[in-house]
Amino acid sequence: MTAPDHRRWMTRAVELAHLCPTVANAYSVGAVIVVDGQEIATGYSRETDAKGHAEEVALDKLDAGDPRLERATIYSTLEPCSQRATATRRPCTDRIITAGIPVVVIAWREPSIFVEDCVGVEKLSRHGIEVIELLEFTDAAKAMNRHLGLP
Ligand SMILES: [Zn+2]
Repeated sequence: MTAPDHRRWMTRAVELAHLCPTVANAYSVGAVIVVDGQEIATGYSRETDAKGHAEEVALDKLDAGDPRLERATIYSTLEPCSQRATATRRPCTDRIITAGIPVVVIAWREPSIFVEDCVGVEKLSRHGIEVIELLEFTDAAKAMNRHLGLP
């Protein structure tokens, strides 16, 4: 996909992030899964339950074996998590790897507020997933997270 496409879909992810119920101890994040220029699933933090992450909410709307995932791009306003406070939930990084999504576009790397060192990007890259960072969206992705005391 081209740079304007990436900007279009990250803008959509930022819109979704603004829908998150705000809480004191978790990020507000938006995510969109795109295939062939079409949105096939969206999610935002806490959309479906109090612990839900944007990427998992979006993935949970699709069948795990959906063949379109093999050519999908997932846009997330924040780096996918690599560990979770809720032990029964898999990190979004692992979910993306299992789903077979080949491209991940993020606006912002997770700062060390809740997790000392998020290694989502590194882990995705190690699994051959292309990670694109759209740094021009970082401020927009932080906007709904200012209450967390960002560095
Ligand atoms: Zn997550």
